[in-house]
Amino acid sequence: MADHVLVTGGAGYIGAHACKVLAAAGFVPVAFDNLSTGWREAVQFGPLVVGDLLDRAAVDAAFAKYRPVAVLHFAALSLVGDSMSDPGRYWRENVTGALNLIEAAVAAGCGNFVFSSTCATYGDPDGVLIDEDTPQHPINAYGASKRAIEDILRNFGVSHGLQHVIFRYFNVAGADPEGKVGEQHRPETHLIPLLLDAVAGRRPALTVFGSDYPTRDGTCVRDYVHVLDLAEAHVLGLRWLLAGRGNAVFNLGSGSGFTVREVIAAAEQVTEKAVPARAEARRASNRGVPVIEGERRAGDAASLVSGSVRAMRDLGWQPKRSNLTDMITDAWAWAQGPGYRE
Ligand code: UDP
Repeated sequence: MADHVLVTGGAGYIGAHACKVLAAAGFVPVAFDNLSTGWREAVQFGPLVVGDLLDRAAVDAAFAKYRPVAVLHFAALSLVGDSMSDPGRYWRENVTGALNLIEAAVAAGCGNFVFSSTCATYGDPDGVLIDEDTPQHPINAYGASKRAIEDILRNFGVSHGLQHVIFRYFNVAGADPEGKVGEQHRPETHLIPLLLDAVAGRRPALTVFGSDYPTRDGTCVRDYVHVLDLAEAHVLGLRWLLAGRGNAVFNLGSGSGFTVREVIAAAEQVTEKAVPARAEARRASNRGVPVIEGERRAGDAASLVSGSVRAMRDLGWQPKRSNLTDMITDAWAWAQGPGYRE
């Protein structure tokens, strides 16, 4: 019988893509999700348990019912701006929820844990390329809550033998090119979907959060990685644990940084190719995506770019679609397709 894997946040953007890739790799993904930001329709590759990580009994029941060989823990609040306006919520839900899950895994004898951490744990490391040994000094409550969970995992690794792989994501983007799942947040706060909404006329303009950063054009630099490449890294991380290769930390990024303005320019190119009438309209009006120059967003680092090749070297990870054109093409196809809810 195929092994079950408990996927918290399996109804969310990254979790749903991970479930698809896990199922293709022969696992049964069991999505555990409170549907606060996830979508029931996104759970297509295994069972859904609707439950909350703050409810320990519900978590214990999921372990008892499915006896998973491993946990992939995606469920979390993940918005930098929100974490600055309501840090208590981030500490309570992210850290307490993860602690419940970790304790439940140990109690159930499930000793393999893959954790979604973030480059936000590094803080604002002054434009340097970030590898896994870069010191972690988070500058927002989101990053701080994720770093705390990393510490909990390290403690449980020592005390209870909980094997763990920690993935520190850079900026995840794109969608399943087959269109089964994609990015859908309510409210949407991420750059690429907001930008595509502005292109599609679903929103009047994109606000650029700050043009006075010490970067090549004054806007923030981020490293974007395709959600399916990221999902594939999780299967490799899972196999790493199941082979008993021990605890590890991996950055997941493409190694290339792009400013907000560069992402806007790439979106203009991709969408004009897809919709030639847009190119004509743009030439006629002599302007591209409508943009408002806004203030900086609290908690944003100037530049976050992965300098690491550890995941490629040790896990054999080979990102295939983590270039701006493919990510925006796939996100655009999803946003025009039948699965997208306006
Ligand atoms: N950003 C922006 N306008 C928006 C949303 C995002 O200028 O409406 C910028 C944001 O300041 C950051 C980058 O785009 O520099 C990526 O932000 P996103 O929220 O997508 O991801 P984050 O880096 O916060 O994880």
